[in-house]
Amino acid sequence: MHVDSYYAATARDTRGFARLAGTYDVDVAIVGGGFSGVSTAVELAERGFSVALLEAEKIGWGATGRNGGQVTGSLSGDVAMAREFRRTVGAEADDVVWQTRWRGHDIIRNRIEKYGIECDLSFGHLQAAMKPTHMEELKAVQDEAQKRGMADDLELLEASDIPDYLETDLYCGGLVNRRNMHVHSMDLCVGEARAAETLGVKVFENSRVLEIEHGSRPTVVTADGRVKADKVLIAGNAYHFLEQKTLAGKLFPASLANMATVKLGKQVARKINPHNLAVYDCRFVLDYYRCTADHRLMFGGGINYSGRDSKDIAAELRPALERTFPRLKGVDIEFSWTGVDGIVLNRIPQVGKAGDNVFYMQGYSGHGIALTHILGEIMAEALAGDLTEYLIYENVRHLKLPFTRSLGSQAIALGMMYYKLREKLR
Ligand SMILES: Cc1cc2nc3c(=O)[nH]c(=O)nc-3n(C[C@H](O)[C@H](O)[C@H](O)COP(=O)(O)OP(=O)(O)OC[C@H]3O[C@@H](n4cnc5c(N)ncnc54)[C@H](O)[C@@H]3O)c2cc1C
Repeated sequence: MHVDSYYAATARDTRGFARLAGTYDVDVAIVGGGFSGVSTAVELAERGFSVALLEAEKIGWGATGRNGGQVTGSLSGDVAMAREFRRTVGAEADDVVWQTRWRGHDIIRNRIEKYGIECDLSFGHLQAAMKPTHMEELKAVQDEAQKRGMADDLELLEASDIPDYLETDLYCGGLVNRRNMHVHSMDLCVGEARAAETLGVKVFENSRVLEIEHGSRPTVVTADGRVKADKVLIAGNAYHFLEQKTLAGKLFPASLANMATVKLGKQVARKINPHNLAVYDCRFVLDYYRCTADHRLMFGGGINYSGRDSKDIAAELRPALERTFPRLKGVDIEFSWTGVDGIVLNRIPQVGKAGDNVFYMQGYSGHGIALTHILGEIMAEALAGDLTEYLIYENVRHLKLPFTRSLGSQAIALGMMYYKLREKLR
C-alpha cells in the first residue's frame, strides 16, 4: 500500500500490477519500481530486450511517489562531478556536467509525449535567493547559461521583481528557469511502467526480492517466484538491503518531509504563485514548493538524516509555509508524509557491480527525478553492452564508510550541521 500522500490520493491509474508467481527467464531482471528501475526498463525494452521488473510494494512506492515533483537541472555534486569525470573524459568534463543538467528534461518530456502519459506536466521554476551571496551564485549560473546559448530560458530577478512572481517578502531575488518542469511524480512513474508493459516488460508488484543467486546467469528470488536473467540491476536506492557486502557504507538514507494543503481554489493558488512555478530556495537544506493541478500548495523541506520519520510532519513544516505565504496562516493540511532518498557523500550518483552480472544504480541525494532518467539511459546502454558513458560514473571515487546505516546517517548529519553553520556565516 502507498503511504497516505497527495500523490496516492490523486493517482490516475490505480489498477496495479500482478504479483510474481512461478519462474521466468529474461535478458534483464530489475529490482525496484521507482524512477531508476522503471526508466531503465523502458530504455531496455525500447532496445528490444526482455525485462522483468520486480517491486516490493507498489510502482512508485518509494521516494519516486513522494517527492516534490520538481524536475530541475540541480546537481548538488557538480564541482566534485567535474573533477571526477575528468578522470574518464578529460577536458570534456565541464561540458558533460553541463549537459547532464538538461539531458533528463529531454528524456522525460519525450517519454511523456511518446507514450501519452498524463502527469500534470508544467513548465517553469524559480530558484529563490535569501541573501546577496545567493544572488551571486544565481548570477554565475545565468552567466554560464548565457555562454552556452541557453540565455532565453533563464531570467534573473531582482527583489523588486519578486512580487510579480510570488506573494512573499522572503526573497531578495531569484532565477526563473523556463526549461525546468514539475509533474505528478507517481502518475509519471506508473505511466512509464504502463509504457514498459506495452513494450513487453513483465512488471510485478508486491514481489520483494529476498535474495540474488549469483552465477553465470543470476536469479532473483521472491517468496513465490524466481526470475533467471543474463543480468540483474538493483535499483532499490535507499529502500533495499541486498548485496550489503558490496553496498554497505556507500549510501545513507535521509528522510525528507512533504505535505499538501487542502484545495485552495484557482484564485488563491494564482495569487500566491501567478506563473505556477515550482520553487526552491538556495540554502543547503532548502524549502521547496509548488501548486498542484488541483490548486493545493505542496510544501516540503527539512532533512532528517536519521532516516527515521518525523513525528508530526505538518507541525514541523507549517512555520516555514506560513513565513513564506502569510496569506495561508492557519490553512488546513490534508496530507503530510515523508520519504527516504539515498545520500552519497560527494553527491554523485553511484553505478557499479555487485557481482559479475549484477549491477546497481543509486544515490541521487535529493535531486533524482532528472538524474534517474539519465542514469536509466546510461545503464540500459551498459546492460546492452556499451559501457562508454557508464564508465564515466563507475570511475568516480566514492568513500565507503565503515559504519552501519544509522551511524553513517548520523555522521552525515554532523557534516550537514557544519554546512548549515557555514551557510549562516556567509
Ligand atoms: C520527500 C522527497 C522529496 C523529493 N523531491 C524531489 C524533487 O522535487 N525533485 C527531484 O529531482 N528529486 C526529489 N527527490 C528525490 C527523488 O524522488 C529520488 O531521488 C528518486 O525518486 C529515486 O528514485 P529510485 O527509483 O532510485 O528510488 P525509489 O523511488 O525509492 O524506489 C526504490 C524502490 O525499490 C523498491 N525495493 C526496495 N527493496 C526491494 C526489494 N528487495 N525487492 C523489490 N523492490 C525493492 C522500493 O519498494 C522502492 O519502490 C525527493 C525525495 C523525497 C524523499
